[in-house]
Amino acid sequence: METEVLAGDAAGIARAAALLRAGRLVAFPTETVYGLGGLASDPAAVAAIYAAKGRPQFNPLIAHVASVAAARSLGRFDTRAEALAAAFWPGPLTLVLDRLLGAPVADLLSAGLPTVAIRVPAHDLARALLKQVGAAVAAPSANPSGKVSPTTAAHVREGLGGRIDAVLDGGPCAVGVESTILSLVSDGPVRLLRPGGVPVEAIESVLGAPVVLGPDEARPTAPGQLASHYAPRAQVVLEAAMRPEGALWLGFGPGCDGAEINLSETSDPVEAAARLFAALRTLDARAAPEQVIAVAPVPDTGLGRAINDRLRRAAAPR
Ligand code: AMP
Ligand code: MG
Repeated sequence: METEVLAGDAAGIARAAALLRAGRLVAFPTETVYGLGGLASDPAAVAAIYAAKGRPQFNPLIAHVASVAAARSLGRFDTRAEALAAAFWPGPLTLVLDRLLGAPVADLLSAGLPTVAIRVPAHDLARALLKQVGAAVAAPSANPSGKVSPTTAAHVREGLGGRIDAVLDGGPCAVGVESTILSLVSDGPVRLLRPGGVPVEAIESVLGAPVVLGPDEARPTAPGQLASHYAPRAQVVLEAAMRPEGALWLGFGPGCDGAEINLSETSDPVEAAARLFAALRTLDARAAPEQVIAVAPVPDTGLGRAINDRLRRAAAPR
């Protein structure tokens, strides 16, 4: 695919918004770094983000929205979240909140967590774009996994040219460091998950209370932190090339006739990633007590690596 470079003017913004609404990937500037945007409600677009970045794991992504009002439709705001949003949005602060039931974001965006990370960026182009899209946009840094975050459109093209539909050119980013990430879930203390553009001292002065540095070790927030975290209730077994007696079978690829659900009839790992979390949820709800979910082998290539990482965690002994 040819990556279009869109000028940061009204026509470029309109084109970028149309591409995003159609489920395509568009990199755009924020005040921190360039983000790789995809429609947060569209599991295929979110899967395509992971594929373009070549991430070996499904790290949860941040949902970018145009306004506090839009943010309130995704996560549960308590008085602390309201105060932080009023003080620092738009700006380089990300809030991890309990996800509202029916929030219009794909399970894959949160990598299966019951929370959602939200930010209202301050960059004029980003705000204009998000307003025109009219929906939340997932946007991790627009670089291949493990590479330095991009602060110009040229960096984005170097890293992802040919792998995304377009980049909206807004010149160099001003902050160049990533957003500060705070967790405010389940009425627990406010926790700093990542230092960034908004200093902790400024946050503490708005809250009038100290911020706990680091995640809750007892309740990990990132899927990589514990082998069996966020596993389905039912036992999961892997590498099931055929249906084991009595099991619910989750297929992958053509030879899986009779599978309850097939992650991808055509062995497409991006399609499989888009369906993975919903499929696990559906089968988990359907499983009788003691009934096992058996998953067909998924090749360990491309997004298959991230899928297998997630499946191994779901199948880990607990
Ligand atoms: P990036 O988009 O590259 O700036 O990275 C996003 C960061 O946000 C990652 O480090 C994630 O672990 C973190 N994050 C996103 N969503 C959540 C969530 N629901 N819970 C905890 N951390 C999150
Ligand atoms: Mg990054």
